[in-house]
Amino acid sequence: MTDVLWREGWLKPLSIESLPNDICSICKEEFEDLDFVAACEFCEIGLSHELCCNKHITSHHMNQLKEKINKHREKRLHSHQ
Ligand SMILES: [Zn+2]
Ligand SMILES: [Zn+2]
Repeated sequence: MTDVLWREGWLKPLSIESLPNDICSICKEEFEDLDFVAACEFCEIGLSHELCCNKHITSHHMNQLKEKINKHREKRLHSHQ
C-alpha cells in the first residue's frame, strides 16, 4: 500500500515582512522570493520551507502521521458501507 500526502488548499502569497520569522525554522536559511513555505500541523515549530517541513514531519512525527493515515482509512471504510 502506498500513501501519498496531499496538502489541500490555495497557494496564499505572504509578504516576508508580515511574518514573525524570515528564516526557515528548520534549516535556518533565509526565505527567498517565491519559496514554497508550510507550517507543521503537529507542533508549533513555525514557518519553514515546504520541503523542510515535509522532512520534519516524516522524521519527527511519524507516529502521529501514521495515526492520521489510519484514521483516514477507517473513515474511508465507513463511507463505502
Ligand atoms: Zn528550510
Ligand atoms: Zn512538527
